[in-house]
Amino acid sequence: TYVIALPCVDVTDKACLEVCPVECIYEGERMLYIHPDECIDCGACEPECPVEAITFETDTPEEWQHFTAVNAEFFTGL
Ligand code: SF4
Repeated sequence: TYVIALPCVDVTDKACLEVCPVECIYEGERMLYIHPDECIDCGACEPECPVEAITFETDTPEEWQHFTAVNAEFFTGL
């Protein structure tokens, strides 16, 4: 799955929302989150992010790898 990480916090540009074909990117209070079960790994969102917050989970920089769990946990609370 694709993951949104720290650069999105307090930015929430939302360009990714507009290109996601399955609408699996959701808005939280301070960042956007990708639903891990709904994402089809198309990669369309990644180049759209102006702050490069989106990566495929195995390509997420080391310091942000916990964001895979951060994205998933957002949906367990819904
Ligand atoms: Fe949506 Fe594709 Fe990005 Fe997954 S990779 S969040 S399906 S645009």
